[in-house]
Amino acid sequence: MLKLENVSTFYGAIQALNEVSVEVNQGEIVTLIGANGAGKTTLLMSVCGNPRARSGRITFLDEDITQESTHVIMQRGIAISPEGRRVFPDLTVAENLNMGAFFLNRAQTEEGMEHVFDLFPRLRERAGQRAGTMSGGEQQMLAIGRALMTRPKLLLLDEPTLGLAPLIIAQIFDIIRTIREEGVTVFLVEQNANKALQVADRGYVLETGKVVLADTGANLLSNDEVRKAYLGA
Ligand code: ATP
Repeated sequence: MLKLENVSTFYGAIQALNEVSVEVNQGEIVTLIGANGAGKTTLLMSVCGNPRARSGRITFLDEDITQESTHVIMQRGIAISPEGRRVFPDLTVAENLNMGAFFLNRAQTEEGMEHVFDLFPRLRERAGQRAGTMSGGEQQMLAIGRALMTRPKLLLLDEPTLGLAPLIIAQIFDIIRTIREEGVTVFLVEQNANKALQVADRGYVLETGKVVLADTGANLLSNDEVRKAYLGA
């Protein structure tokens, strides 16, 4: 479904991704783990065309999207819940969800919002509340909900459990499973390697901009190097 082939991305002279090749198949949950600064966020953002890959090729549903602009990539069926959630604190829950619906017509927006409210009943209860006054977990649900407004085929999730309490983390992983059951493919970046590999069909390990390991979630969980470096074993 999504394919990165030898993708290199730079910030000026700084190379953040070095010939990265990654594949996400339809219906999968794929997890990307790696230390701080390994390039995980850059990889997800490169899929969205911002920053654009300097070399290599990115295809989505067999179409080359390497040079597409971000809004065209979103219209093709990719959505992202960015690192740090980035909800608009002064806007209400409903207004934040509307921001995720920028290219939908009114009927599609209403349908999208109903779908998000079915998935996150808490957001329905809080539809009129300003996002900045909600808990971290609620804001994360809102960020995921906003990404789902366009009914994407592929959802990119950047560190959805960062800074959340264990109980909320478990809820977020349950939601990720539910989203996949609804037919959305998920590409997940996580610091919480243990939980993220448990939920994943397959995973990749990124080190200083390079993919160093690729395997099933189960195999990565039992891999000695992964256990030492990322699972605190
Ligand atoms: P973290 O988990 O800490 O967010 P990450 O694996 O997501 O890390 P990136 O944020 O993708 O890593 O960063 C990869 C590299 O690119 C780092 O060396 C970082 O300093 C650099 N980098 C990221 N964003 C920028 C930017 N806007 N300008 C310059 N360098 C950047």
